[in-house]
Amino acid sequence: MSDRPGQSTIVAAGEPWIGTLQRGDTLRIVDLEGNQAVDTLFFNAARPEERYSATDTLRAQAAVYLTTGSKLLSNLGNPMLSIVADTCGRHDTLGGACSSESNTVRYALEKRDMHSCRDNFLLALARSGLGLTKRDLPANINFFMNVPVTPDGGLTFADGVSGPGRYVELRAEMDVTVLISNCPQLNNPCNAYNPTPIEVLIRFATRL
Ligand SMILES: [Zn+2]
Repeated sequence: MSDRPGQSTIVAAGEPWIGTLQRGDTLRIVDLEGNQAVDTLFFNAARPEERYSATDTLRAQAAVYLTTGSKLLSNLGNPMLSIVADTCGRHDTLGGACSSESNTVRYALEKRDMHSCRDNFLLALARSGLGLTKRDLPANINFFMNVPVTPDGGLTFADGVSGPGRYVELRAEMDVTVLISNCPQLNNPCNAYNPTPIEVLIRFATRL
C-alpha cells in the first residue's frame, strides 16, 4: 500500500503550482468558484524534453476540445495522461497562455507589466531547479477555458462554461511533472474578469 494516500493543495488566484505525478496517480483540478482558466503543461518527469503536444493530441483524437476520454500525447506520440472524469464538459488547448507580450498586443501598452501565465510558468520553473526555461514552454492546455471555434474557423475567447465545484480528473500514464498557472488574466472573460482559487487534488496509486 502507498503510505501517501493523497494530497490537496489550494492554489490562490493568479498563482503558479508545480508538482509530480507517478504513473497511475490521478490529478483532480477543481474550479472552486467557477469560470477560472487553469493553464497547464506536462513534462516527462525523467526526461523533460518529452512534453505535452497539443498538435499530436488534437490530431490523434480528431477533435478540437479536450474532455473525458481524451488522451494527452507527448511530442513523441506517447500517452502522458488520460482525462478520466470531467464535470465541466470541455477544455481548450488552442488559445495559448497569456503573456506580457499578448497583454500588450491585445489590450494596451500599459498592460505589459500585468501578471501573466507565461511569467507564472517561468517563475515556477526557475524555483523548481529543473533547468527548464522559456524555450521549454510549448502550447498549453487551458482547463475550464471556453475558446469556441466558430463554424468558419474563427477562434474566440468567450465567457466560461464552467461553474463552482466543477472538476477535471486525469490519470497519469507515465511519471509527469505538472506545471500550472492559475490564470491571473483581468482583460478578457476567460476568468469572468475575476481570478479565483483552485484546488489541486492528487490521489496516489496503490503501490505494493
Ligand atoms: Zn493566463
